[in-house]
Amino acid sequence: MRKLLFEALVSKTVTEPAPDDAEVAALAATLDASARRRLGRSLSIRAVDAGSCNACELEIHALNNAFYDLERFGIRFVASPRHADVLLVTGPVTRNMAEALMRTWTATPDPKWVVAVGECAAGTGVFADSYACVGAVSRVLPVDLVIPGCPPRPIELLKGLLALLAAR
Ligand code: SF4
Repeated sequence: MRKLLFEALVSKTVTEPAPDDAEVAALAATLDASARRRLGRSLSIRAVDAGSCNACELEIHALNNAFYDLERFGIRFVASPRHADVLLVTGPVTRNMAEALMRTWTATPDPKWVVAVGECAAGTGVFADSYACVGAVSRVLPVDLVIPGCPPRPIELLKGLLALLAAR
């Protein structure tokens, strides 16, 4: 027991490997600059869970943790689609969530973009053939970008948002 306690005190955390600070800073700064150039202001994101297992959400939440700290670059998550530029949609769209997802998209002002996050949102995940799912986000909404992964890492999410702004 004493040995376990000692190991826990001296070992590094393994739940959140520290990202490369320089890479994150460079990506986030470029994202911020692109958002300001394209939109005239910072980027606002509304996350929508359309039926995910929640692992994709954990990675999205990590963008706000002390390692990534997205808000320092003017990229923020908002509570209402009416304040959003980007809908970040996770999960295979369940039949129960299809209408809510469509209403969220309708409530988001133009210009707006839809990013499908994860294999499920792309239509290729483990729940693809479930009777309870409509399927890929693109079966309900026009999708601008797919970020693959199960789940995608926060750094992949950042790269995806950057690619989205660069392509617009
Ligand atoms: S892509 Fe993977 S992590 Fe994301 S909702 Fe589907 S099963 Fe979960």
